[in-house]
Amino acid sequence: MTRTVAVVGAGVSGLTAAYLLSRAYDVTLLEAEPRLGGHANTRTVSDAAGVPLAIDTGFIVHNDRTYPLLRRLFGELGIATRPTEMSMSISDRTTGIEYAGGRGAAGVFAQRRRIADPRFLGVLGQVGRFHRRAAAFLAATGPADLTSFGEFLDAERFSSEFRRLYAVPLVSCVWSTGALTSLQYPARYLFRFLERHGMLTFAGSPQWSTVVGGSRTYVDAIADRLDRIRVGRPIRAITRGPDEVRLTDADGTTSSFDRIVIATHADTALELLADAAPVEKEVLSAFSYSRNVAVLHTDASLLPRTARARASWNFLTPEGAAGDRPPVVSYWMNRLQGLDSDTQFLVTLNAREQIDPAAVLAVMDYRHPAYDPAAVAAQSMLPGLSTDRTAFAGAYHGWGFHEDGCRSGVAAAAAFGVEW
Ligand SMILES: Cc1cc2nc3c(=O)[nH]c(=O)nc-3n(C[C@H](O)[C@H](O)[C@H](O)COP(=O)(O)OP(=O)(O)OC[C@H]3O[C@@H](n4cnc5c(N)ncnc54)[C@H](O)[C@@H]3O)c2cc1C
Repeated sequence: MTRTVAVVGAGVSGLTAAYLLSRAYDVTLLEAEPRLGGHANTRTVSDAAGVPLAIDTGFIVHNDRTYPLLRRLFGELGIATRPTEMSMSISDRTTGIEYAGGRGAAGVFAQRRRIADPRFLGVLGQVGRFHRRAAAFLAATGPADLTSFGEFLDAERFSSEFRRLYAVPLVSCVWSTGALTSLQYPARYLFRFLERHGMLTFAGSPQWSTVVGGSRTYVDAIADRLDRIRVGRPIRAITRGPDEVRLTDADGTTSSFDRIVIATHADTALELLADAAPVEKEVLSAFSYSRNVAVLHTDASLLPRTARARASWNFLTPEGAAGDRPPVVSYWMNRLQGLDSDTQFLVTLNAREQIDPAAVLAVMDYRHPAYDPAAVAAQSMLPGLSTDRTAFAGAYHGWGFHEDGCRSGVAAAAAFGVEW
């Protein structure tokens, strides 16, 4: 008789696990929201001319170097991608400085007067040293080193302007974290990520891409291959017995399966486990998440005022003390997705009050894993949580990105005997 497996959570992690496990199991995919995809969330909107456009709001980009499993998945599913530009701008409303990286000298000196601005040149002058010192730090330390990013910047005497106008925006943009959290990141963990993505050199970035038609095309392609999908019914409790796993959903209905993949975020996984083992409690409770309110809108005032500084990712430094306020980042979707439209579409994180309400098209609530030393230490214990009945998946098993989610889904399937 075919064995049954429940996959709880239909983000990239659960979708990948369900797709692979369906080769050997009778799979049921269970999702709390009315739609599948989690952070792969494409919205269809119309521009001023009434042309419908599919715009991504969570998962947007991947590349040809550090996403091998996701690209393999896209290949099997026949998903088309298109090259995009991964440039990043910083707008500092306090000093008026605006510049873009990844767009050549024209972007760096988007404001011509900065060619003779000693403060700006001072920041630029530290970027090369930052690359070299970060690479040297990686070479000199081992995996157990938990020096924070802030401690590294202090020890290497990088200036406060460099932190505000380069170092913090870099981390905040990538992980959607506030300044304090960014500075608490374990430096080694961060530099390994930056090095792999070609971000510790001036050249050598991978080729980034977006999904043609939006990321929901791959979500739909996986859904088409699955026989049993339940959406809009959150699971409330998971209990493991000697012979079965019992799930209770929001309306009190129970169902039983031979095995389970829990592909929610780590804190949700722990909440759902009615019978969590001490080691599950210890490991899963080590992960925390930063919350980001994302708004899809058409208010171009969130882009840099200097037209030449406008980039794919646009970071706005906070006025006054940064504290740990969530970062304000605007993804310029026309440039990222190559949209053929005169209407400008942006996805802005954490600045709802700055956006013209008439320009708002959709509001989403996203959560990104925040990495502190406890979380990094717990990560190495995650593979040990799998049993012959329970496997865990989620982007929190890696750096928090789509490849990490996909990889964790591949590992969950392998834990139940399905190799890819
Ligand atoms: C603003 C933003 C932009 C990003 N952009 C990129 C990008 O461009 N490239 C990239 O690689 N990564 C990006 N990421 C990160 C990446 O998209 C996510 O980390 C990844 O998609 C998370 O996948 P996941 O499967 O772990 O979780 P999720 O996608 O969050 O999926 C978890 C699923 O579990 C469901 N669930 C929760 N509780 C229950 C329950 N009780 N019962 C049933 N289901 C439940 C949720 O509804 C959700 O659908 C971005 C993240 C953010 C916040």
